[in-house]
Amino acid sequence: VKHYLENIEQQKHLNAFVEVFGEEALKRAAELDALPANAEKGKLHGVVIGIKDVICYKNHHVTAASNILKDFTSLYSSTAVQRLLNEGAIIIGRQNCDEFGMGSTNENSAYGPALNPVQNDVVPGGSSGGSAAAVKAGLCMASLGTDTGGSVRLPADFCGIVGVKPTYGRVSRHGLIAYASSFDQIGVLASNVEDAALILEVIAGKDEFDSTVSVKEVGPYSSVSIESDRKYRIAYFPEWLEHPSVDPEISSQLQNLLTSLKEKGHQVEPVHFKLTEYIVPTYYILTTAEASSNLSRFDGVRYGYQEKKSFGELTDFYKQNRSAGFGKEVKRRIMLGTFVLSAGYYDAYFTKAQQVRRLLQQQTEEIFRDFDIILAPTSPTTAYKSGEKIKDPLAMYMGDIFTVFANLAGIPAVSLPLFNHSNTLPFGVQAMANRFDEVSLLRFSHLLM
Ligand code: GLN
Repeated sequence: VKHYLENIEQQKHLNAFVEVFGEEALKRAAELDALPANAEKGKLHGVVIGIKDVICYKNHHVTAASNILKDFTSLYSSTAVQRLLNEGAIIIGRQNCDEFGMGSTNENSAYGPALNPVQNDVVPGGSSGGSAAAVKAGLCMASLGTDTGGSVRLPADFCGIVGVKPTYGRVSRHGLIAYASSFDQIGVLASNVEDAALILEVIAGKDEFDSTVSVKEVGPYSSVSIESDRKYRIAYFPEWLEHPSVDPEISSQLQNLLTSLKEKGHQVEPVHFKLTEYIVPTYYILTTAEASSNLSRFDGVRYGYQEKKSFGELTDFYKQNRSAGFGKEVKRRIMLGTFVLSAGYYDAYFTKAQQVRRLLQQQTEEIFRDFDIILAPTSPTTAYKSGEKIKDPLAMYMGDIFTVFANLAGIPAVSLPLFNHSNTLPFGVQAMANRFDEVSLLRFSHLLM
């Protein structure tokens, strides 16, 4: 803990943590050290973990990087955090992110941007930017992030680490501040597959506080390094590799990887995926709709920031609080979501998007009848300069094209560092598997790294 606290202090400019639980972490470490030698130790005994500022930890602040939740204190711990603690982990602090998880660069944060440790003038990715930066810079061993549309995988990709998003319904969302409830999942950022797999094994599984969590047994995730000569059936989408937005270097490295997997005896085949152009619009219609409804609870009465001004009507009071409390991107999404749900447009946008989501899910199921893994880029580009896309939300949304697919389909996905040389920006490869087949996904990932 001392080592990580020192690193955090030295790397303060990264703005990866918005609050450090220093004293408390030291105390907990001392308590864990004081356990008798023969005491039973948890699977994560002494493991130092940071949590994204959307995950509740009892008696600690949680704000979703938003002014609307300034100084708010959690009344209970999320299931994920409680399970980490039960296995002996030490929570070292809460980490910077985009407000309510809305963004791809960590620039939409009430605490200011987090920086990419690889190169400080490029973005760390988002929305779990602080969580990825912290792992990359050695400020903690691993982080819990959340992935509604790539927010674990994209920052992992931009920072050159491992990011795992489990199947929708694999990890409890109890105590996670909602963005889009039918998409949100807690995931893990770590420097290698073994660490991510072990932490996922601890936090996954049924929970009476979240009815969308599956009761399916959690598999032996942490056994990833078991030797096996399993040959995988791997699909890739040529439309994605040839997509005009993809950096040629990324697609050629991915081609090389596919060739080398084939040479090693895996079955590697192209699959034509015809719905590519619908992915981003469908995602942004459905998630903004869900967000506009989820965020209606923040009105300054039940939660959060209250403008201390006089007001007439109650609606004026709500308006004042929400106008002052939410940032620009969050407001944009609430307005968009309210629009697509409004009486005159509901069928044209929301219903249509739900139908497209169903089609995407059906096509995905068909693919996994014949394949174990889909391989793809995580992002079309490497990390770009801070400030470059923040003024052009559509360009930023388009960068989510390859990640939001897994959230729409509900399947598990990882980003693994594919290209990680010290003098250039890193980038990753994305692997996806069938729903609840985390075991294959993690074992395959281990094979790749
Ligand atoms: N870029 C995505 C968005 O802004 C990230 C969402 C997420 O996974 N939290 O919606």
